[in-house]
Amino acid sequence: MKEGQLPLWIGGKERPGTSGRTGEVFDPSKGEPIRRVPFASREEVGEAVAAARAAFPAWSATPPLRRARVLMRFRELLEAHRAELAALVSEEHGKTLPDAAGSVQRGIEVVEFATGIPHLLEGGFTEDVAQGVDCHSTLQPLGVCAGITPFNFPAMVPMWMFPVALACGNTFILKPSEKVPSTSLRLARLLQEAGLPDGVLNVVPGDAEAVDALLVHPDVAAVSFVGSTPVARHVYETATRAGKRVQALGGAKNHAVVLPDCELDFTAEALTGAAYGSAGERCMSISAVVAVGEVGDALVERLRAKAEALKVGPGSAPGVDMGPLVTAAHRERIRGLVQKGVDEGAKVVLDGRSLRVPGAERGFFLGPTLLDHVRTEMTVYREEIFGPVLVVLRAATLDDAIALVNRNPYGNGTAIFTGSGRAARRFEHEIQVGMVGVNVPIPVPMAFYSFGGWKQSLFGDLHVHGVEGVKFYTRTKAVTTRWPEPETRDPHGLAMPTHG
Ligand code: NAD
Repeated sequence: MKEGQLPLWIGGKERPGTSGRTGEVFDPSKGEPIRRVPFASREEVGEAVAAARAAFPAWSATPPLRRARVLMRFRELLEAHRAELAALVSEEHGKTLPDAAGSVQRGIEVVEFATGIPHLLEGGFTEDVAQGVDCHSTLQPLGVCAGITPFNFPAMVPMWMFPVALACGNTFILKPSEKVPSTSLRLARLLQEAGLPDGVLNVVPGDAEAVDALLVHPDVAAVSFVGSTPVARHVYETATRAGKRVQALGGAKNHAVVLPDCELDFTAEALTGAAYGSAGERCMSISAVVAVGEVGDALVERLRAKAEALKVGPGSAPGVDMGPLVTAAHRERIRGLVQKGVDEGAKVVLDGRSLRVPGAERGFFLGPTLLDHVRTEMTVYREEIFGPVLVVLRAATLDDAIALVNRNPYGNGTAIFTGSGRAARRFEHEIQVGMVGVNVPIPVPMAFYSFGGWKQSLFGDLHVHGVEGVKFYTRTKAVTTRWPEPETRDPHGLAMPTHG
């Protein structure tokens, strides 16, 4: 392996990339390249699929409890390597160490859920659907499944997918984001250490070429995708056309609706964490506040004070609240969007564009930014920013706020802040969003519930992990059985069999 160059992971072995195409992986806190990542070619993806296909018969025939035991050992290894994994996530993504450790924890929770999947693989049985005829159903794995993941959760999002897929008896190809590939490779090695047979999980770092190869490969049965909406749509359309099962989670614009009867300090504190945590690079970040009635001015003043007090610095530095953005290009894009907001008439309450972090001047930092009196037609509202920029809109009533949120094309997460159970209940029922919080700013469901948005935040029918994840990675077979006694043989003749 070339020094400083990451490998592919195929059939339980590292191997160097041969496409001749590579990318730079950065430490965004330093603004420096730290290693190179190979971009897998179509042929290399084909080899990974062949390895996964070869591993499928034995893995799918392994009793579910034994598969679960591999995941139990994997869970112990994740615990033992938690700090190392968090450091890797923080190094390549830039998020703070406590935030990275929290994301590893959420991944571990999916592994814990997956160790209980044998119970969910239970089928049904009905005795005597007809005289001497029984019927039962089983859940069987699909075959080779693929997962394509974004940059913002290098450990957690891959672990939304492969633990569930593997527990159900599938084999897997993981295509991590080329910006943060190391964690996926590390997870694959830990799984091998936990006893996973070679070829059951393969990792092919790469770009669109690797993705597109997976989307049309005849031996890939299903594709899970998490990333931006345009790519999610492309993945969904291409892979479903090729006959695959697809769940493609896209981008977001998550609103917090704040009513005048909320606890103002609690709300401002919660929104500050939800908007600026992980530098706003979370698909469940709150990026738009809808202030209802007279609460606006007081809320904005508190948000400004709290955002201004945030400490921005390298992800690994102690006491830092917010790290850098993932790339220089992403920072430039966000600076441009903030400028558009200014040009289109938003009021700048806090402008983080010129922030300099002493000792880390080359890092991709952007300070917390707060824009008030934003209107729905402004670019800064219409586009997903995916950075530390919070926009505040005003609405006269709860009805207006609900209508505003429901007009937005995304539907990932939302939250209401109020002291009124009645208002919260109405919001919960009427809002067209997949994950809803009541005085909870980032309502990410626990692993045994399923995660997923509505509208342009998810293409497909089933959400990830939880029971819907198990449904996604299995298919049902119904078996009708008769063991005829010599005296009750009744072969039905040519008429439609009715059993009755
Ligand atoms: P992205 O869409 O640019 O990339 C996601 C994956 O797709 C990566 O593995 C990338 O290599 C691949 N890819 C990129 N362009 C491609 C193309 N043209 N053809 C084929 N493959 C392509 O997303 P990102 O920038 O890595 O992540 C941020 C986005 O992910 C945001 O929009 C965020 O909202 C979204 N996200 C959504 C969720 C969710 O649960 N809905 C969770 C995390 C992130």
